[in-house]
Amino acid sequence: FLNGKTALITGSTSGIGGGYAKALAAEGAAVMINGFGDEGEIDALRQELESLSGAKAAYSKADMTKPEEIRQMVADCAEQLGAVDILVNNAGIQHVAPVDEFPEEKWDAIMDIICNSAFHTTKAVLPGMKERGWGRIINTGSMHSKVASPYKSAYNAAKHAIAGFSKTVALEVAQEGITVNTISPGYAWTPLVENQIPDTMKARNMTREQVMNDVLLAGQPTKQFVQIEQIAALAVFLCKDEASAITGANISIDGGWTAQ
Ligand code: NAD
Repeated sequence: FLNGKTALITGSTSGIGGGYAKALAAEGAAVMINGFGDEGEIDALRQELESLSGAKAAYSKADMTKPEEIRQMVADCAEQLGAVDILVNNAGIQHVAPVDEFPEEKWDAIMDIICNSAFHTTKAVLPGMKERGWGRIINTGSMHSKVASPYKSAYNAAKHAIAGFSKTVALEVAQEGITVNTISPGYAWTPLVENQIPDTMKARNMTREQVMNDVLLAGQPTKQFVQIEQIAALAVFLCKDEASAITGANISIDGGWTAQ
């Protein structure tokens, strides 16, 4: 049902973003992926997206800490695939440390990549969406856009911020055929989660197993990691006409984390 539509997904060379890319391509969207990683692997993903969608797929290496590169990415997408109809702000990084030891450059990078980049992408795509009278903006939040966990001050701040930004834009474009929502997953098994295990082991003086069971899944009542495909399916639903009344929402998909 997305034939003829173009989706731009930040941070989609890995994890949840890659899941969004495949699910939107499977519905026929032309997809531009973005993020870092091995060139060969990224091109293999791009080709996979083309075979899923039957449409073109493209890649932008824009760094989400650099507003000029973000604007260029949006322009490149319009030129190579078509103007952005579906924007998914998904790029993210994590750093785990007590706030009084939190490195300043990590704070800035997390705020830039998770929060500020969404402002720049949204600002760049909105005029075109308004002109066409249709658009979907999906921001990846987190259970940490609603509740906090210690040692993740920058991440929690950035995720609460993107959820607030999302609501504001939803209100501004509520009568323009554009919906803006946040999807807030609980722990999903991706490289981002795997990579924070060593730092959490250090910060909390725990073994790997203790971090998995007593930290990551401790607050997740299902005791299961959320699956990437489940998160991607929710994004696909938000693109449907049936979802046109869902806007300004922050939808949890967190195994019950925020019900507690
Ligand atoms: P991931 O590490 O697998 O993917 C992150 C993506 O962001 C990668 O493609 C990476 O290259 C890209 N990226 C990082 N820095 C970038 C930059 N400066 N510019 C452009 N791209 C950059 O992580 P993931 O777990 O798939 O996370 C995706 C999103 O989901 C993030 O916003 C994360 O906060 C959120 N999230 C993840 C979980 C989880 O449990 N994995 C839970 C809730 C929310």
